[in-house]
This record gives sequence, C-alpha cells and structure tokens, in this order.
Amino acid sequence: MSIGKIGVVGAGTMGNGITQACAVSGLDVVMMDIGDAQVQRGLATIASSLDRLIKKDKLSAEQKDAAMARISTATSVDALGDCDLVIEAATESLQLKLDLFARLDAAMRPDAILASNTSSISITKLAAATKRPSQVVGMHFFNPVPMMALVELINGLQTSTETYGKVEAFAAVLGKTPVKVRNSPGFVVNRMLCPMINEAVFALGEGLATAAEIDEAMKLGCNHPIGPLALCDLIGLDVELAVMQVLFEGFKDPKYRPAPLLVEMVEAGYLGRKSGKGFFDYS
Ligand code: NAD
Repeated sequence: MSIGKIGVVGAGTMGNGITQACAVSGLDVVMMDIGDAQVQRGLATIASSLDRLIKKDKLSAEQKDAAMARISTATSVDALGDCDLVIEAATESLQLKLDLFARLDAAMRPDAILASNTSSISITKLAAATKRPSQVVGMHFFNPVPMMALVELINGLQTSTETYGKVEAFAAVLGKTPVKVRNSPGFVVNRMLCPMINEAVFALGEGLATAAEIDEAMKLGCNHPIGPLALCDLIGLDVELAVMQVLFEGFKDPKYRPAPLLVEMVEAGYLGRKSGKGFFDYS
C-alpha cells in the first residue's frame, strides 16, 4: 500500500495546516471536523494562506486551484473509510482522542494507518484503544505546518517497522524532515524547549532581570530569533503550563516543576498574545 489518500481529523490550526501541506504536495485529502462551520473556517484559512503564497510568488493561481480541488470535507468519521492514512489533529484531550480513535478504528480500512498529531498524549495509550496498535504512530507537526520543516515521528511501543517506514516515506512526499522519536513525554522538541521557557519564567520571578532583558540576553547570547518569554506569549502560557505538567507528571522529576509565576499568570488569565497580555503587553 502506498499512501495516496489522506484523512485529517480536525480543521483547526494544525488540521488545516496539515491538510494544506498534503493538498499542495498533490495528495487527495478529506478534512473532517465536528460541524460545517468548523470545516468551512478551515477551508477559508487554507485559501487565504495559499493566496499569501501567490502574493510572494511561491505558488501560481493554477496551483492554488488544483490544491483546493484535492480537498474534500466531512463531518463524520465514516467519510474516512477509504483513506490510506488518517492524521488526527483534534482538540488535545485524552478522553476525546480515546473515543475518536475507537470510532476511527471501526470506520477505517483494516490496512490503513492511524496517526496522531498530539503534543502530549502517549501514542502507546492511543494505540491500545484500537484493534490495529501496530499501525498507530505519532506524527507531530509544528505550527505553522506549511512553513515548518520538522515532523517528529513517534513510535509507540506497538508501532511496527513497516508502519514507521510508510509514514517516513510520506513525510518526504510532504517535503518535511522527519526525526524518529520513541514515545516519551514531550517527545524531543517540547522536552527541551518548554523547560527552557519555564526556566526563563523562574528567572523573571526571582528578579534576575526584566522580561525584556531576559529575552535580549537569550537572543544575543544564544542567537535565538525570539526570546523565551516572547515565545511563551506566542505559544500561550496555558499551553506551556500544560506541557510542563505533562513532563512533571510523566517523569516525576522535580526539575520539570512549573514555575510558580507561570501558574499564577495562567490563574490571572494572562495567557499571552491570545489574551492581549502575557510577559509583554499586546493591548
Ligand atoms: P484547534 O483548537 O485549533 O483545533 C482543534 C479542532 O478539532 C477544532 O476545530 C475542533 O472542532 C476539532 N475537534 C474537536 N473534537 C473533534 C472530533 N471529535 N472530531 C473531529 N474534530 C474535532 O487545536 P490545534 O492547535 O489545531 O491542535 C490540534 C492538535 O494538534 C492537538 O492534539 C495539539 O496538541 C496538537 N498540536 C498543536 C500545535 C500548535 O502549535 N497549535 C503544535 C503541534 C501539535
């Protein structure tokens, strides 16, 4: 089986990005969400993202039309029955994904592969909720998907070599560079990135330097394009806190404890750019 037809579950930030990447790479995609409003919003986001690429001369109007024509939409898992690969990018909730995996497993062809874009849920646990555990794998894309080169490919305990090989080849079709990771809290990138951001919040809380000074130091001293606190505002303080909690609970190691200031800012509703205020002011 070669991967030709893709299903994407969730038409949100990641789902519409993954759908766009597939369609631009010449693959047929079914983008599925819970309702028509959600899929229409996803489609509109893809169309305006492709328009931006046209303005930058990176895509022609014909290529946009061809990509849009490869996308169909659905509001039920039953529409994914003939897909070779389904990538789940629905809301990050264990119960929601366990339920979705059981329903997808029942709807999909027995030989098809089921992947999850989850940032923090165990691929091994999701695989165990299906009757095809050796055909379940993690495909952790980065935001914005069309721009970011990396995809972490996560092997659960049950993932077969054959499944891994197929998604590795599929990642190449998308023009992404895969990094192979064993299932473990935070995988590679979030395991390194989120503790660094958390440490910046500790430093701020201890009065080591101001937020602007901490970011300036990391930009100039480490050649980072953005400081850790501005990056946290971009990611969302609630998302950063959730990842630290996953690492802390997953490893039971105090080095992953969330910074008290991070917890308090989330309690205050200071979530970063999306709320207008985080470590910096966006009002
Ligand atoms: P989002 O909130 O933008 O989109 C989630 C979508 O899932 C929504 O449109 C929602 O309606 C839909 N959904 C909910 N329940 C569903 C169901 N039962 N069936 C179909 N669709 C359903 O979220 P997002 O940021 O796109 O995140 C999606 C996944 O990607 C999460 O697992 C998250 O951890 C992961 N992820 C996010 C990022 C990021 O930067 N945002 C990066 C990597 C991975």
